[in-house]
Amino acid sequence: MAIRTGKQYLDAISKPKDIRIDGEKITNVVTDPRFAGGAKTMAMIFDLQNREDLIDKMTYVENGERYGLSHKMIKTKEELAQRKEMFKIWSDASCGTFGRSPDYMNVYLMAMNAAADQFGDFADNVRNYYKFVRDNDLSMTHTLVNPQVDRSKPVEQQDKDLAAKIVETNDKGIVIQGARMVSTLSAYADEILVVPSGIIQNNQEAAPYAFAFGIQTDAPGIIHISRPSVVHQNEGHPMDYPLSGRFDETDAMIIFDNVLVPWERVFTHGDVTMCNEFYKRTNIGAHILDQSTVRSLAKAEFYRDLAFTIADSTKTDGFINVQNMLAELMTTVELVRCVITAAHAEAKLVNGIMSPNAAPYAALRLRYPDMYQRMCEIIRILGAGGLVAVPSYAEFDSDTKDFVEKYFQSANGDSRSRTKLFRLAYDASISSFAGRQQLYERYYSGDPVRAAANMYNNADKGSGKSRIWSFLDDYEKSLK
Ligand SMILES: Cc1cc2nc3c(=O)[nH]c(=O)nc-3n(C[C@H](O)[C@H](O)[C@H](O)COP(=O)(O)OP(=O)(O)OC[C@H]3O[C@@H](n4cnc5c(N)ncnc54)[C@H](O)[C@@H]3O)c2cc1C
Repeated sequence: MAIRTGKQYLDAISKPKDIRIDGEKITNVVTDPRFAGGAKTMAMIFDLQNREDLIDKMTYVENGERYGLSHKMIKTKEELAQRKEMFKIWSDASCGTFGRSPDYMNVYLMAMNAAADQFGDFADNVRNYYKFVRDNDLSMTHTLVNPQVDRSKPVEQQDKDLAAKIVETNDKGIVIQGARMVSTLSAYADEILVVPSGIIQNNQEAAPYAFAFGIQTDAPGIIHISRPSVVHQNEGHPMDYPLSGRFDETDAMIIFDNVLVPWERVFTHGDVTMCNEFYKRTNIGAHILDQSTVRSLAKAEFYRDLAFTIADSTKTDGFINVQNMLAELMTTVELVRCVITAAHAEAKLVNGIMSPNAAPYAALRLRYPDMYQRMCEIIRILGAGGLVAVPSYAEFDSDTKDFVEKYFQSANGDSRSRTKLFRLAYDASISSFAGRQQLYERYYSGDPVRAAANMYNNADKGSGKSRIWSFLDDYEKSLK
């Protein structure tokens, strides 16, 4: 079974795992109302890759077996372009709001596999794990970050030793105790990839915090402590929250309570240098940013189209200030599209894989959180009081139906269409779902503040500075 259907996926994740939410232990994410919408969305995207009209765009065939395209070890720019199309189809399915659709982690693991030699004695573990995930079309989450306890000290100097670390090494594997944050999608994932993020100090005390491994989300000792859901459980009607109800991909803190990771699932351990150079050696960043920038494009297009529809419905699209905001959204879409075009045009083989140039992606990564805040703001400015002066869609089934049918119309639509549209706008710009989306865009790929500082610190500034001094010196000389 190399590509799963939605049903096969749902059957697999119906298995109990230790998920806690709102003080309860969840037994089945497929039936729990806080998780059911997201599970259905995951099933829907698995189904997309089986659809007759999409199967050749979403998958590839190797040695007679069909696999998801995001697993493919791509070698050419044409294959890179095909993969982009695949990312876009999955991203459009959630209007770009489902950040960790499985393609994100699939390309992560694909890049690890391409760089398997870097893992030394564990190279075959990486290769086998890649094949295992690809061949079973599994969905993965990942946790990189140590708990936010005291950011002023490195992990091994924390007064409260809460971060996940190796507490035992034995003939079966490594034993992990402690926590990692954040794991988006963990409720819907088959596997967790536990991988390095920030710099680990090069000393003996820090070595237990240096590791990478993959493990089942239901392995003994793994506890997912979820944030409260953004699904509105007291909604009057599902149309009131057309995004929250379906696209909450969930986030959790993962507790490892004496979890045994068998040796065949270990990719590195105790090797601080490998962990600190993990992303440099594997070039994972270029591939995950490829996926997430295509998703950012899908999201920007959705907000642009939503804004067009709102402005049309209130007939404000003739005003110059409104046209300026609509044009701003158009330019955002165009800029994101250009970034992808540039990254693909400058793609080259790295570790034998056709890899987009990560530099344009890294630049957009730093700008996109503010661009996205602005998309939400424009929806709020355009929708204005209309965002709160629409009722629940449930009113159309109540005894106020006649009033609601009459008084909530738009210039060019009936009350039902205006209510639907403005509830969508509310969910996209104001709801707790929208708030979580804004937080996600800022932090999903690490802290942008430190990323920006790293970009500056790693840049070659020498030639730029000499050029400025030459410019001044030449001018001064010309005056003599
Ligand atoms: C919605 C969401 C989903 C996420 N999903 C995932 C996921 O699926 N997998 C995963 O592994 N991670 C995920 N993350 C976690 C993400 O990687 C982190 O949020 C990110 O790396 C920032 O780390 P932090 O949240 O611990 O913030 P902190 O590091 O605690 O930073 C908090 C603030 O302090 C500042 N600060 C902290 N330390 C320093 C410093 N040394 N120098 C300068 N400023 C500093 C930061 O700039 C920031 O403003 C997710 C995060 C969010 C918000």
